[in-house]
Amino acid sequence: MKLQAFLERMFNQKRVPQALLFYGKEGIGKREIAFELSKALLCLKSQYPACGVCESCRLLKDFFSQPEEKLKVYEDDKFVYLQGDHPDFIYLKPEKTEIKVDQIRAVRDFVYIKPALSPKKVVVIYNADAMNPYAQNALLKVLEEPPLDTHFILVSHNLNSILPTIKSRCFMLEVPPLTKEELAQRTGIKDDLLLELSEGSIILLESLKEKKEIVETALKFWQLDWVSLFKLANKLEDWSTEDKLLFLKILSGLIQKKYLQERDERYKLMLDRVYFAMEYLGKGINLKLTLFYLYLKGGDKNASYKGALSGH
Ligand SMILES: [Zn+2]
Repeated sequence: MKLQAFLERMFNQKRVPQALLFYGKEGIGKREIAFELSKALLCLKSQYPACGVCESCRLLKDFFSQPEEKLKVYEDDKFVYLQGDHPDFIYLKPEKTEIKVDQIRAVRDFVYIKPALSPKKVVVIYNADAMNPYAQNALLKVLEEPPLDTHFILVSHNLNSILPTIKSRCFMLEVPPLTKEELAQRTGIKDDLLLELSEGSIILLESLKEKKEIVETALKFWQLDWVSLFKLANKLEDWSTEDKLLFLKILSGLIQKKYLQERDERYKLMLDRVYFAMEYLGKGINLKLTLFYLYLKGGDKNASYKGALSGH
């Protein structure tokens, strides 16, 4: 894989930046990549991939297979970050939906002490976009003068919520979606259609597998007659936001595929409409109108398109 090779080269040239930001879609393995790099930076043999046997590697080995409660560190009764048995590694994540300024203050206290075991210290900030503005500003101050022996590894699927000043301090690395083969290998799911619809994301693939009915409904969407379309539009109202999102996500995947094949501007308009609906779902958007629009725009005028889009 290209990214891994790039990281390996960077590591061997001892040029791993002090602040990195891995970004890309949800569910494509960003956290694993960040963790692998952390292990290598902390490895007592200083190698990428990490040796797996030294004291440092041994202490990090089961980090994510432990119950989270065991890893949770509190300060003044407030959750700050996760830390296992390794003294030089911490893993910051939102308590619920937000990373708060107190958590960043705790990180600051951690980074200004010397490493205890490894040559370096590593702070992973998972879902860095969940930092509220105060937290981001506090982090920015640390990133402006990071202690030389500390690496910050940020992980995000939503760069829009991260301050430009933070992004400019980080070395940005895009994590590509997983290939169909990688997905199949990691999940054991072989269904080609599901693999394709999942767009390289394990999270999406697993929801697709779980929600077969939604997948079926979306695939048949452009073949419905008007009565069934009305029925579906009414039924959809009662679905959970999560299910509605999944449904729209599948439609967007089908339309996108079509757009890439034909480059017809019509599909682009349809995509804009789906993305808009996804963004404003639960904020008063009229989902029925969106469905009718998509149905008309993608259907009647071009009968062959209906079939092609749903793969029949
Ligand atoms: Zn090691």
